[in-house]
Amino acid sequence: MKTQHPNSSAWSRTASKLDAADTLKNFRDEFSFPMHDGRDVTYFCGNSLGLQPKRTQEYVIQELEDWRTFGVEGHFKARNPWYSYHRWFAEPLARIVGALPHEVVAMNSLTSNLHLAMVSFYRPTPERNKIIISGYEFPSDRYAVESQIRVHGFDPADALIEIQPAEGTSTLTTEQICDVIKEHGSSVALVMLSGVHFYTGQRFEIQPITACAKSVGASMGLDLAHAIGNVELELHDWGIDFAVWCSYKYLNAGPGAVGGLFIHETYADRPDLPRFAGWWGNDEARRFTLQHNFVPTYGADGWQLSNAPVMNMVALRASLEIFQQAGFALLCKKREELSIFLHDVVSDVIADYPWARIISPSDPKQRGAQVSVAFDTHGRAIFDALIARGFVVDWRAPYVIRIAPVPLYNRFADIVELGNALTTIMQEFA
Ligand SMILES: *Cc1c(COP(=O)(O)O)cnc(C)c1O
Repeated sequence: MKTQHPNSSAWSRTASKLDAADTLKNFRDEFSFPMHDGRDVTYFCGNSLGLQPKRTQEYVIQELEDWRTFGVEGHFKARNPWYSYHRWFAEPLARIVGALPHEVVAMNSLTSNLHLAMVSFYRPTPERNKIIISGYEFPSDRYAVESQIRVHGFDPADALIEIQPAEGTSTLTTEQICDVIKEHGSSVALVMLSGVHFYTGQRFEIQPITACAKSVGASMGLDLAHAIGNVELELHDWGIDFAVWCSYKYLNAGPGAVGGLFIHETYADRPDLPRFAGWWGNDEARRFTLQHNFVPTYGADGWQLSNAPVMNMVALRASLEIFQQAGFALLCKKREELSIFLHDVVSDVIADYPWARIISPSDPKQRGAQVSVAFDTHGRAIFDALIARGFVVDWRAPYVIRIAPVPLYNRFADIVELGNALTTIMQEFA
């Protein structure tokens, strides 16, 4: 029984070269790795829950100290005053999503922000009430759009359009998406897509798709759960109306971390736009007055409901500092190299097994970090065997293993180790 893949030494040579040339390699030391059998796991799950930056603990302790020391006065006297705490996030988030600082705000969670955005951007009429989403969309997004359709008195059976991959494929083409948008034309109220699809890892061509949505008069919304901190985005220039995200995947801000919202500058000064209001979205000069008139503050901040959940946001702050230090453009370059190498190695390993195939796009420009492998059989057992050997990947029923190397903390050598382990494991099922 062979134990090594014939290309294993070639993989190692490539990985050594790439790791040696990697200017970001020291950022790995900023993170804590779970342990398995006395050593760090090989972590490929940054698409699901990013690892903890080591500085996070210190930052959380600092807020606990300031709370202990200052009580209510910490709103202004804390080292990072809580009253204006949310403002720090505008710059670093804007840089990562390609926005102006006043177009973004860190608040709530992804699904709640999606609802808040739809209150403003899904205003259905009898003539125009459809929402277009991709097939196999994440359940929470589906529940959100379905429930919004119902709240407005429409029927998801008519108003929700899902675009399914063509027979024998797993992904959607831009042409296919645009054809569906044009087919439904002036009945489309909102096109709501993921920047990167959670299951297949497909990175959609947002710019031409947005142009299609606009050409029929529809709003364009994005779910960036798997895109933020992973791929380059230009939300402002693309003319996206709104976008929402969570921060616990590629942004490494910890379980259930505060989410985010982008609202295009076009709507920055639109007090007439319907929205659900709360005191933190109100004009700051009036926030503490007892006048009851709500005047939304300029930009995305005007969609805030509540004061900043500091104990939660502090982990995002720790993480975004690391993004700033590393530089997002460099991270994206390494992400693409990791993704290409992973795709090559996995392709080599599964080549002899007709029951395994990669369902992520083969063009690296059309995916982010993640490569998804579908197994017609043995998938769950292969996943369990990888976990038992200290490789943290994730299992998506019914048959997909998702693998996501992250430029901040993965090495090219990690991919070689995975390739070797997968080779050995799959031989057992040959
Ligand atoms: C992770 C993820 C979510 C999570 O939603 P929360 O509101 O943060 O729980 C939603 N949508 C997509 C596409 C996701 O990948």
